[in-house]
Amino acid sequence: MDLAAQAGLYVHVPFCRRKCSYCSFFSRVPGPGDLARFCAALRLQIGQVAELAEVADLSFATIFIGGGTPSILPVRALAEVLAELHHRLPVAGTAPEISVEVNPGTIDAEGLIELRRAGCNRLSIGIQSFDDQELAGLGRIHSAAEARATIAAARAAGFDNLSFDLMYGLPGQTAADWQATLDQALAFDPVHLSMYELTVEEGTDLARDAEQGRWRLPDEEEILLMMAAIDAAIGAGSLVRYEISNYALPSRECRHNVNYWQNGWYLGLGPGAVSGLGGERRTAVADLAEYCRLVEAGRPVWREVERLDREAAFRETVVMGLRMLAGVTIEDLRLRFGLDPATYYGPILERLVGQGFLRLEEGRLRLTTRGLPLANRVMAELV
Ligand code: SF4
Repeated sequence: MDLAAQAGLYVHVPFCRRKCSYCSFFSRVPGPGDLARFCAALRLQIGQVAELAEVADLSFATIFIGGGTPSILPVRALAEVLAELHHRLPVAGTAPEISVEVNPGTIDAEGLIELRRAGCNRLSIGIQSFDDQELAGLGRIHSAAEARATIAAARAAGFDNLSFDLMYGLPGQTAADWQATLDQALAFDPVHLSMYELTVEEGTDLARDAEQGRWRLPDEEEILLMMAAIDAAIGAGSLVRYEISNYALPSRECRHNVNYWQNGWYLGLGPGAVSGLGGERRTAVADLAEYCRLVEAGRPVWREVERLDREAAFRETVVMGLRMLAGVTIEDLRLRFGLDPATYYGPILERLVGQGFLRLEEGRLRLTTRGLPLANRVMAELV
């Protein structure tokens, strides 16, 4: 695995039109002048990282503009950022995957055409649900009709590589409600689906509402029915589960995220973005004003720099790799770290294999069908 030749480039856009009730991501509603200042700082930062020796030797195979809500920026600004990335950084010449996250209600048909022209070839659309009541409960800014319109406009703009983000386990949601959202999503024949169970994060409005008993979250039995609905729908269609929460047509997996799960190298730009290069993890300040100030002053934006030792990096690579159904390749681990999972984990691994949670065969270590729903528990033993 040539880490330098297939690096990922991530840009974090830390703005949303309104904060969703469940959201703990770093994003905020922009104040006057914020968008322009951020875009200028980002372009400056692109120039600054282009000078770094550790970046010059990379080749970026993927670009992912995420957030937040990148589509809250004027499309012209997104196009300028993409042009700057291509101009200043070593982006792979042959067919890089260029994804942008968009939320319905923040980009129109013309904007999508412009984005496609700017070189974006993959959209990740934050749909979450096709039920207006559920969307309102989550504090989403869009309706189901706007989600449908965004999908249609994206197709008309020439995007065939569309991914939808969906969430289940929503307040008040039944298995039948989830089935309806799932059916509607699949009726659009997406090439990629990301489906996550809602988690109630501390400090969010949703957590407060749940504490005050304003919402009833689906119980475990209902969640299991929702998961079974996913298995049945996927089993009957052409999408293939390739990661715990991600499904794609063959060869349409998100290459950017696969690199991340393989613990490959990636450079993160923007406030709060994380970079993982050459065994070092750097996290940028998660504060817009501070980020802009540092970039404008030509100073590094890292709030935290962590160097993982060989064994910690190995364990992390195993645990992240197990998120993918293909698991991890023993030979790759040996070449990268000089370590072998069977020898390194010894009896722990033997037990997990014996219990039928993991399978070690054909040079790979992976979760079994039995181990998948218990992935977090299994990974906790290997971390
Ligand atoms: S759109 Fe996404 S990032 Fe923005 S507030 Fe909602 S969940 Fe958070």
